[in-house]
Amino acid sequence: MDKQQDFVLRTIEERGIKFVRLWFTDVVGTLKSVAIAPAEVEGAFVEGLGFDGSAIEGFTRSYESDLLSLPDPGTFQVLPWRGEIDPTARMFCDLTTPDGQPAAADPRHVLKRTLEKAKDLGFTFYTHPEVEFYLMKSTTIVDGSPVPVDDAGYFDNVPGGTAHDFRRRAVTMLEDIGISVEYSHHEGGPGQNEIDLRYADALTTADNIMTFRTVVKEVAIEQGVHATFMPKPMSGQPGSGMHTHMSLFEGDTNAFYEAGAQYQLSKVGRQFIAGLLTHAQEITAVTNQFVNSYKRIWGGDEAPSFVTWGHNNRSALIRVPMYKPHKGQSSRVEYRGIDSACNPYLAFSLMLAAGLKGIEEGYELPPEAENNVWSLSDAERRALGYEPLPSNLDHAVQYMEQSELVAETLGSQVYDYFMLNKRQEWYDYRAQVTPYELRTNLTAL
Ligand code: GLU
Ligand code: MG
Ligand code: MG
Repeated sequence: MDKQQDFVLRTIEERGIKFVRLWFTDVVGTLKSVAIAPAEVEGAFVEGLGFDGSAIEGFTRSYESDLLSLPDPGTFQVLPWRGEIDPTARMFCDLTTPDGQPAAADPRHVLKRTLEKAKDLGFTFYTHPEVEFYLMKSTTIVDGSPVPVDDAGYFDNVPGGTAHDFRRRAVTMLEDIGISVEYSHHEGGPGQNEIDLRYADALTTADNIMTFRTVVKEVAIEQGVHATFMPKPMSGQPGSGMHTHMSLFEGDTNAFYEAGAQYQLSKVGRQFIAGLLTHAQEITAVTNQFVNSYKRIWGGDEAPSFVTWGHNNRSALIRVPMYKPHKGQSSRVEYRGIDSACNPYLAFSLMLAAGLKGIEEGYELPPEAENNVWSLSDAERRALGYEPLPSNLDHAVQYMEQSELVAETLGSQVYDYFMLNKRQEWYDYRAQVTPYELRTNLTAL
């Protein structure tokens, strides 16, 4: 047993933990959990816990179905919502084959492998996600729409509103489980909220996002409301993005920072943005993985639709936020395309891989968008070279299919499975007759 494993075993003993949940994530980003008795934890550290991988979305083919989950002791936390009676803890797991090789389909492994690549180039990758989500009264649909818990808007202070209590409880629970929160506020849509997680290395942030979604769902159940990370739950209202601020560090130095440069952004920072712009269309099927994701991207309300960058320009896909000298070397890049329903391990892997490609190949950064990209005509945007993001899931998968970068970063098993799964989703959607068609066609035609 190493030190961290010892610490876990001791804590289980001291706190009287009754159940330990082992967590991992499937290819489409669903959290999986298996509870083991405390007496089994030592064995799980040594040999892993076996499970049937063929039963999990995208994991294995049935003839090679045995997988092992090895708990990562550094992620041990007691789950605050399980209370003091029979307390429960959790650990995230790494998945391996029976002979100890990392499982090709483990999204956490895909991210670890990509972070290794960054490390070979001398970089650590940090991310800070701003997670948006909606609180609905229930899952009931009234006149074609879910019903939000309030009618408030951006930064509104709602007296006696559900959202305040909700955010206070969610933020406390997140802090209790070791996840620091930077800001929380009401977002633009009725019932829409945002909670921003503090900057951390990308593996920690991806684990934190998985925990965050569970915490938010648990608090919602406790308070009798329904929380959803669906990218666009209501037409005509803002979607839920997961804007992600990113930077690369070389030791303690922010590699995106250069004193005196434009926006204090170094050459490495500029090349990273150029990489993201060049590969944005290819990675969108993963950063925006559902049919519904494209309703957000093409539904206005501050969601980006065109591949552009800008300084403090909220109509751009990539924003270089205002530099804050009191925060030290705070140069960073905000990717605004990604939504709250993505698999964070895979999405962060691709955002990092795209940025690193820009650095390795020395991509040139095109001029920034100084205007409101949405208010330009198609012809003006073409003249400026602003390409659209994919228009729907099918279009996004077509880009992905052509992408060496995505194939290489995800590995063939995740890459092939992901496209298979998403094509099926598109075929199912394509066969639907929607309320919109009925409304516009049934009497008119
Ligand atoms: N909800 C918007 C989106 O879908 C973002 C609003 C904001 O700037 O925070 O991306
Ligand atoms: Mg926001
Ligand atoms: Mg933002």
